[in-house]
Amino acid sequence: MIKDSREIKIKKSLRSRITDVDWDNLPFGKVFSDHMLVMDYKDGQWEDAEIMPFEDLQMHPATSAIHYGQSIFEGMKANKDEDGNVLIFRPHLNAKRFTESCERMCMPAIAEEVFVDLIKKVVDLDRDWIPNKPGYSLYIRPFMFATDDFIGIKPSDTYKFIIFTCPVGAYYTAPVNVKIEEYYTRAAQGGVGRAKTAGNYAASLYPAKLAQEQGFHQLIWTDAAEHKYIEESGTMNIVFEIDGKMVTPSEDMDTILRGVTKRSVVEIAKHWGITVEERKVTVEEVVNALREGRVTDAFGAGTAATIAQIAKIGFRDELFELPSIESRTTSNKIKTYLTDLKSGKIEDELNWLVEF
Ligand SMILES: *Cc1c(COP(=O)(O)O)cnc(C)c1O
Repeated sequence: MIKDSREIKIKKSLRSRITDVDWDNLPFGKVFSDHMLVMDYKDGQWEDAEIMPFEDLQMHPATSAIHYGQSIFEGMKANKDEDGNVLIFRPHLNAKRFTESCERMCMPAIAEEVFVDLIKKVVDLDRDWIPNKPGYSLYIRPFMFATDDFIGIKPSDTYKFIIFTCPVGAYYTAPVNVKIEEYYTRAAQGGVGRAKTAGNYAASLYPAKLAQEQGFHQLIWTDAAEHKYIEESGTMNIVFEIDGKMVTPSEDMDTILRGVTKRSVVEIAKHWGITVEERKVTVEEVVNALREGRVTDAFGAGTAATIAQIAKIGFRDELFELPSIESRTTSNKIKTYLTDLKSGKIEDELNWLVEF
């Protein structure tokens, strides 16, 4: 059943931890704001949400999410404009994707308006935690997991939905080096690659570790069946500029996570009159274009990193160096545009921000 009630109980923390934070040294994802929102599902419905002090959870050792992985999440960012208004970037797209993840993982949906409303409430209460510094934001992490204390394989009857937030600095501080992976896979057709579900990340750790041992930050995943088509990069979608055109794998396949950042990159590029091809992209065409110097830009797109420009791409025993970061007209322009838009410095012409 879909949650439609908006009752929220609020229990405020007695002492804010905000003055304990080293705001000039914010590691990604290690600092947590004062409050979290918790909402439980049982007897076929969502109970009222509660905002409470951020604290540890108590769990039964048989909690089914831990054993069988019914666990999904989202990620988005909030910033403040000069007047102190909170700006959240396209949360309705995250709400929609959360619903799709729920469906794939047999978990109960939350109405998209309610999802966005709950985010606004928890962010509003901790709005002082939104950093003011350029490149910094408040990362918002909504997630849901199965809570039945039962050892057996079936969809859980009970769930917990939580939203917490983290003030964060930059995810990557320098351009990244990535390797085209031709053995391991992130997602297979018919699998759960399109869902933002926990196990996808567990499965990617080992191949990513091997790549890191070879000096790469991340992998470029290829399709599971033939390793012929480019899919995405680590936890980002991937975009190339080849022969002056923007080329990116289409999301028709259920093996690619449908990123809000990549969608926004494609929309703004089209708005600017850039030719965009969303289609199957073969490893062969990218490698040939790299060999011939026709790849003028390449970057990952995702909420955590926003735009992560790629410096080097490894393929088998070749290592291709891309043009200097200063020469990347397209990704530099998009990066600046998204950063300025999210912090309210320029007009929200495409109506992407939720403001309060
Ligand atoms: C979250 C995620 C992305 C990026 O999606 P955004 O909505 O832009 O943050 C891309 N790929 C994977 C596998 C992801 O988990």
